[in-house]
Amino acid sequence: MKSIRLSLIVYFLLLLGCALGGVSWFVYQTASSALHAKEAGNQEHLRTSYQADCEKTKASFDRRLFEHALGLRRKAIAHRNHYESLTMFSALGWVGMPDGYLSLPVHFAQGLYDKLGGQLYFRQPWEIRVESAEDMPPEKDEPKDFFQFYNDKGRVLDRSSSLEESWFSLDASIRTRAEEQKEGFFDTVKINPDLTVRRVTWKTFPRFGPPLIRRLWEPTPPFVFNPPPKQAKGPPPRGFVPPVIFIQFARETKNLDAALAKLETKLNEDLAKEEAETARTLAGLRTRLWWIFGLTFLAIVAGGAFLIRLGLTPLKRLSEAVSRVSEKDFRLQIDQNRLPNELRPIAGCLAQTLEQLKRAFSREKQAAADISHELRTPLAALMTTVEVALRKPRKPEEYQEILEDCRASGKQMTQLVEKLLALARLDAGADTLRVREVDVANLAGQCADVVRPLAEARGIKMHVRIADLSTMQTDPDKLREVLTNLLHNAIEYNRPDGSIDLAVERQNGHLCLEVRDTGIGIAPEAREHIFERFFRADPSRHADTLHAGIGLAIVKGYVDLMGGTIGVESSATGSTFRVEFPVPS
Ligand code: ADP
Repeated sequence: MKSIRLSLIVYFLLLLGCALGGVSWFVYQTASSALHAKEAGNQEHLRTSYQADCEKTKASFDRRLFEHALGLRRKAIAHRNHYESLTMFSALGWVGMPDGYLSLPVHFAQGLYDKLGGQLYFRQPWEIRVESAEDMPPEKDEPKDFFQFYNDKGRVLDRSSSLEESWFSLDASIRTRAEEQKEGFFDTVKINPDLTVRRVTWKTFPRFGPPLIRRLWEPTPPFVFNPPPKQAKGPPPRGFVPPVIFIQFARETKNLDAALAKLETKLNEDLAKEEAETARTLAGLRTRLWWIFGLTFLAIVAGGAFLIRLGLTPLKRLSEAVSRVSEKDFRLQIDQNRLPNELRPIAGCLAQTLEQLKRAFSREKQAAADISHELRTPLAALMTTVEVALRKPRKPEEYQEILEDCRASGKQMTQLVEKLLALARLDAGADTLRVREVDVANLAGQCADVVRPLAEARGIKMHVRIADLSTMQTDPDKLREVLTNLLHNAIEYNRPDGSIDLAVERQNGHLCLEVRDTGIGIAPEAREHIFERFFRADPSRHADTLHAGIGLAIVKGYVDLMGGTIGVESSATGSTFRVEFPVPS
């Protein structure tokens, strides 16, 4: 993205969207699982209540069945068999009967109430009769009732007419269970394919016939529905074995089924309500989260845009300061101390670059002026010489002298133009090396020979020290140009009666060329700039000669092109230029 502000906003919004989305998702998931857990708990509670209600309804139904069975029990009466009709006297007539020998003494003992007599009396066989136990016909829509009496031998004593062709069975398993359950055994059976009933099978005993015996012997335990379990008190009482009957009472289950169905419908409604409640709460939560998400997003977008604008203000101030820079004023007009830490190095670098630009610019301006000036001097001299020569006819010797002067001026101008051209070719990358095997010591000697006359003319001694005679692959013309330039400078900036040392040696795998002079030296602040084009440490010195600050820039360009390095050391007593080329050992 091209705009920092736009990209910041986009990244910020992406981050924000992710963060808000993540938080909302987490909140929703947490709330959802909590709500579902609550719903499951409530539903479990509803199911438990439903089970309890069902049990209660069934128990209430069963209790009514049992109460009916209790009522039916009153209808069953146990009678002694024929012995009851015996009298003291008529008993004598029974002696001849098959069991008369047994019944007679028992009969006598009947009224004695002693233990033996009573027990014998009650061990006699019993006959059970059911007094009219006919059921009332049910009202319309009332559930039908059914009953059936069995004696101990499995004989049916009585049954309700409502059973019609159907029979309640008393098979071994029902009988055993009825004997185990004191309050009766309950089960649900089908009388016919369309009629299901709930039935109680209760093992009990009938009432006893004669009032006296009943009063004394008939055990009449008060009936308690669901009595607390009795502690067994030793072995069961011996002696009295009451007669046993099984009463089966049943009632159509349509009311029970309806009540249970109602409970189930209510349970399903309550469960559905719980689910709907959870879904509604979650939907509400979702809506609220969307609102929170949207409003927070909007608020942060607005606030974020404002903050980003605020944060970018220093950048804006810096860019305004940069835009105020012109070729007339290179100052970066901004207080760097008021800039944030991140921008201070940029502003510092900018200010430094602008300062260098300003210097380079002024140098170039100065150089242009100097070059014009340098060119104007030989041009003016040329023009003057020619004009003076043309004023009157002259002898051939005079013309020859005038032409010599003209050639010197032309040469000076040519040198300057050639230097400018060399610089332009270096800038354009058009200068290429013409490499060949070069005898460096020999080449250094030749350069020294070229400049020696000039040095001697200024009273400067020149020493050449060759410590290495090896050759190297390089461009000899450019190496010559480098050395000549350095030697010319060493002469130019030397003191009268000074000296120049030119050394060729090998050090650390490098071929070193060193030009040492005893000149005026270079000030420390100027040292780092002397290889820049058009730089001159002291422009006032060069009034008479052609010095535009180009020579060392060309030297540096050539050395770089040849793969070498150049450095300078200087003090008040002279300067040393050192050029190094890596050579294979
Ligand atoms: P110029 O043509 O002006 O000499 P150069 O590029 O050769 O240009 O040199 C740049 C500047 O470096 C000179 O103006 C001078 O001030 C300084 N300089 C170069 N060589 C020496 C030296 N041997 N001793 C002292 N100053 C030097």
